[in-house]
Amino acid sequence: MSESTPTLTKLIQLPSDQDASGRTLGEEEIKLLSEAIRSGTLTSTKGSFVKALENQFAEMIGVKYAYACSSGSGAIHTAISAIDPEPGDEIITTSITDMGALTPILYQGAIPVFADVDPRTWNVTAESIESCLSDRTKAIIVTHLFGNPCNMTEIVQLAESRGIPIIEDCAQSFLAEHNGKKVGAIGSIGCFSLQQGKHITTGEGGIVTTNDDAFARRMFLFVNKAWGYGDPQPDHYFLALNGRMCELQGAVAVAQLDKLEGIVQNRQDAASKLTGKLQGLNGISTPQIDARNTHVYWKYCLSVDSSKIADGAVGLAKNLKTKGIFSAPRYIQKPAFMCEIFQKQRTFGNSRFPFTLASPEAVDYNAAKFAGTYAGLEAVLVLPWNERYTDEHIDYIADAIHEAVKQLSY
Ligand SMILES: *Cc1c(COP(=O)(O)O)cnc(C)c1O
Repeated sequence: MSESTPTLTKLIQLPSDQDASGRTLGEEEIKLLSEAIRSGTLTSTKGSFVKALENQFAEMIGVKYAYACSSGSGAIHTAISAIDPEPGDEIITTSITDMGALTPILYQGAIPVFADVDPRTWNVTAESIESCLSDRTKAIIVTHLFGNPCNMTEIVQLAESRGIPIIEDCAQSFLAEHNGKKVGAIGSIGCFSLQQGKHITTGEGGIVTTNDDAFARRMFLFVNKAWGYGDPQPDHYFLALNGRMCELQGAVAVAQLDKLEGIVQNRQDAASKLTGKLQGLNGISTPQIDARNTHVYWKYCLSVDSSKIADGAVGLAKNLKTKGIFSAPRYIQKPAFMCEIFQKQRTFGNSRFPFTLASPEAVDYNAAKFAGTYAGLEAVLVLPWNERYTDEHIDYIADAIHEAVKQLSY
């Protein structure tokens, strides 16, 4: 093993999704945003941009209904409200995800039950979900992590055999497909995020999708303080917040939506080039994609073998940093259930509600149950990914990884 000094001739700066360099925000967004402002109508209850977004998004995904809301977390919250769990009901989810996909379960009085993941795809599987099922299971949330869909055929089969609805978390997987069907149209409800770092953005924002009339009705109401807009005798029917998106965001979202297919295509083209350049590299595995899936590359993840690469994913990330590539080893660092919210059950005052209603198995976070999660987090290296990557960027990333592997190989 040689010293990890950079020998690439020049450092280049990669486009970033945190600023204009790696975002597709431009004149189209400015034009529609100006229209929204000039109209003087900024609430979606009276304006037309959010409605246009909802109609166009539903059509694009292939569902009957789409409703915009304030965030991806809000989308998950809206979906769970539609499921309407009894306090203490269980909702199966993944141990590797954004916290915004988990806390809404607790806000609705339900217990998140964490499924293990496949360490090579970082996704839940039918088997890992099945081992979490109980007579309290009210729903299953599947997260298509990093843009790579879960193997939905098997998961849908399992869920349907038990009559349990599936919520798809599609925050990282716009337009990804399984068996020719878009995610967000496969389960009962789909949830999307328009946060700064997602494929398309309005800064913050979210969308829910469904084909189910009853879920659609409840989700529309949940976003609107459960006020029955348009009803003959409207009332506030149940507990709900204002989770609406405003017209300013709606205008930007409509312009962004036009660019989504191109964004996904560019990310896929760049990814297949990098995958080609990394074949056969000692200790490095490129993304594993089921033949029935299309991956939309929210991020490009490597799996790093620490028996071949010194200090594994962490060592590789440190080396790449000296070459100007800022990757994230271990993604969320630790399984979601290791965060204080779950370890200390900090919820409402000192009540620990709803954990007080949980069965011991539902809150058993013993590491032995999560071998795939720990192995997956240990090996994963999350490369920043972007629709603005050029061949020059891909060559640079590939060269940097090749050089790093040479320097770090045992
Ligand atoms: C970003 C994200 C969320 C939360 O979305 P916000 O808009 O940040 O609230 C939920 N789930 C996943 C998988 C995400 O990546």
